[in-house]
Amino acid sequence: MTSLAPELLGHTVGVRQVIQETSDACSFVLDVPADLTERFTYKPGQFVTVRIPSERTGSVARCYSIASTPATDQYIKITVKRTADGYGSNWLCDHIAAGDTLHLLPPSGTFVPDRLDGHLRLFAAGSGITPVMSILKSALDTSTGTIALYYANRDRDSIIFDTELTELAQRYPHRLTIEHRLEDEHGLPTMDSIASFAADAVDGEVFICGPAPFMSLVKNTLVTCGYDRHSIHIEEFRSLDGDPFAPIAQLVTTDANASTVDITLDGDTHTLNWPADATLIDVMVNAGIDAPYSCREGECGSCACTLVEGTVNPGNTEALDPDDIADGYILGCQARPTSPTLRVEF
Ligand SMILES: Cc1cc2nc3c(=O)[nH]c(=O)nc-3n(C[C@H](O)[C@H](O)[C@H](O)COP(=O)(O)OP(=O)(O)OC[C@H]3O[C@@H](n4cnc5c(N)ncnc54)[C@H](O)[C@@H]3O)c2cc1C
Repeated sequence: MTSLAPELLGHTVGVRQVIQETSDACSFVLDVPADLTERFTYKPGQFVTVRIPSERTGSVARCYSIASTPATDQYIKITVKRTADGYGSNWLCDHIAAGDTLHLLPPSGTFVPDRLDGHLRLFAAGSGITPVMSILKSALDTSTGTIALYYANRDRDSIIFDTELTELAQRYPHRLTIEHRLEDEHGLPTMDSIASFAADAVDGEVFICGPAPFMSLVKNTLVTCGYDRHSIHIEEFRSLDGDPFAPIAQLVTTDANASTVDITLDGDTHTLNWPADATLIDVMVNAGIDAPYSCREGECGSCACTLVEGTVNPGNTEALDPDDIADGYILGCQARPTSPTLRVEF
């Protein structure tokens, strides 16, 4: 399997199996070629970005979270739920079969626990279970911590991974607690139901994934219960507008007016020239640094980093919430320098 076109970013991987999870959700089990194994190493909670052909626009890009666990699953599995009238999700569920290939950007994303051995509280609604499943299985497989999952769905038939979750709860009765919230039996999630599920212990990390109103309800309830907002992580599912597969332009970084930036990434510090009209990710990629990014339009948050010194024009900060911005977070794919010297930490 080779790359789709030399100038296009990303990689072609095989699909070894398609699993019909529910009437409107399919999983795709991926066959990553041996030479890409390292590039497709992932952490629980991360996602891949899929290029989907379109007669109208050439292609669209959509992110899908990884549902498998790097701890024990041999193959990467992504799970796609059909969005009513959505282009990409329906195209994948209707067109992709075992033996086909997909063009992907490698795993990315920051919806990842710092550690898996404490007490994890997980909240998912609908297809939001996908990254949460990876976190849950990874924690069960690799630690002795406890996990509580609150999982909201329309009805019993729409629960993705129902059987697998039931089996895990039976296998780990003292470590895994699952509360299903079914709209047709219990009504929509409420502040009271979330508070009674979560109020007994306000420590540990929290991961929330689902529709925006669900995530705000959970986050607001937990903060009211006394949770530290820094321990609450949310993953917003949205569609990308741009083309993250487009090649990154070559930069001239010798401009005398360029700023200087010290970038700390994975324990290494790099000092680079940063031209005023370039983004931080463009500068890093041009310097050959394996920078974390995915959508390149300020939507996914994969390139979030902390501005420790200096000032930037932040550009589109859609992926950051006001608390993140107050804490000094910027998006590397959007930020352009406005001071002569800067310091950034990933
Ligand atoms: C980090 C992240 C992780 C995610 N993980 C998951 C996951 O695990 N599972 C999951 O199900 N979803 C996930 N999502 C959501 C997913 O990326 C999509 O947003 C979702 O599948 C809906 O996409 P869609 O194209 O079907 O629908 P829409 O986004 O509603 O598609 C409609 C859009 O496509 C355009 N369009 C329609 N027809 C065409 C055409 N022929 N050519 C070009 N454009 C067209 C329309 O103009 C419109 O803009 C995730 C999103 C993010 C950001």
